[in-house]
Amino acid sequence: MTSTEHGTHVPISSRAREERDGKEPTVDFGLLSGFSFACRPDCGLCCYATPAVSAEESARLLQIEPSTPFLEGQGGYSLIASRPEGGACHFLKANRCRCHPDRPFPCREYPLTAHVGTRVQVTTCLSCPGVDLSRLALWNRADGAHSPAVGFQEEIAAITAETLKHPVGVWIEFNSRRVAKLRMRMQRHELWSEPDELRARLLAELPLPGSDDFPPGSPPTEEEGLATLPLFYEKDRGCVSFYAREEGWAAFVLRETGGKGDSLGVFAPPDTPPSLTPQAEQLLRGYLAYLVRRDQLLWAVYYETAHHPDASLEELAEAFLLEAGTQVMARAFFRARMNGLTGKRLEVEDLERGIRATDSDLLDLPTYGRVL
Ligand code: SF4
Ligand code: SF4
Repeated sequence: MTSTEHGTHVPISSRAREERDGKEPTVDFGLLSGFSFACRPDCGLCCYATPAVSAEESARLLQIEPSTPFLEGQGGYSLIASRPEGGACHFLKANRCRCHPDRPFPCREYPLTAHVGTRVQVTTCLSCPGVDLSRLALWNRADGAHSPAVGFQEEIAAITAETLKHPVGVWIEFNSRRVAKLRMRMQRHELWSEPDELRARLLAELPLPGSDDFPPGSPPTEEEGLATLPLFYEKDRGCVSFYAREEGWAAFVLRETGGKGDSLGVFAPPDTPPSLTPQAEQLLRGYLAYLVRRDQLLWAVYYETAHHPDASLEELAEAFLLEAGTQVMARAFFRARMNGLTGKRLEVEDLERGIRATDSDLLDLPTYGRVL
């Protein structure tokens, strides 16, 4: 998923023609505003994955390596197998992709991802250490962080081309009908809010985690499997993962070939909200405001209505944001302890680490729509 072109300005919005049914779905790139990206060659974090491949892509990969291991996927797609015990994709070796020119679409679009609801909206995964988070705090302003996105040119081109390959217009129509039904049902019980109004209300009063939200929910245990654990990139250490133990959260280096490398210690998560510098609080607000603007979060809220039939959209959205904020603060605290920083207020750099250790989990939430 490495990118070779950096520092190139890209447009922040564009249109792509959906050829199969003659419709023209808009691909909204607005959430890339203010971000820049340059892949870090020492990282490899995004390759601890099982990317989905089309039949055409798997045929190309089999030409490169006839023994490529595939797993069964959905909708005519296969998955490139990763190594056992949480290891990286079969093609990753010493942080290099062995099929880079022929890597499949999920690898070519990363760190971007496109969500299809009633439109196609592109967002950037903030767990990628190549994405600069310095302007994220500005998303808490009414005008957002409007400035050109930098360095995503290849990834935008990949998404634009992929949009043309699918019946996106048909998906959008299907999703629109689904949401119309949900709206009718929820309106009858006064649980519905129109998306724009809901977003405006949440942005006007962002729910920030408090004492009631701590201690935070725990990551999976080791027994649930290393592949299920959260993952982040730590400079000079590589990919680090953590799991829940009785005494706290245990951190360790995850090996590319699978299995645990160096242990980095066990640290109790905070049982009250850690204190933040004013700048760190601004960053947390900016992150939550960014989540409010992501369609993926709204559509994850729609999905959640099936499990909470008596809750309003606003209550569910607030619960998502509080959980996201709590995890960011807790993981920031955990990473600060892991690096020997104790008893201090969390600063912007700590909060950034918390966001990076959390965001990909949020982008994995099931939604009422789909990813491209
Ligand atoms: S996570 Fe980001 S920085 Fe790391 S290898 Fe992937 S694209 Fe590059
Ligand atoms: S195919 Fe290449 S870029 Fe994609 S996950 Fe595997 S190693 Fe990484």
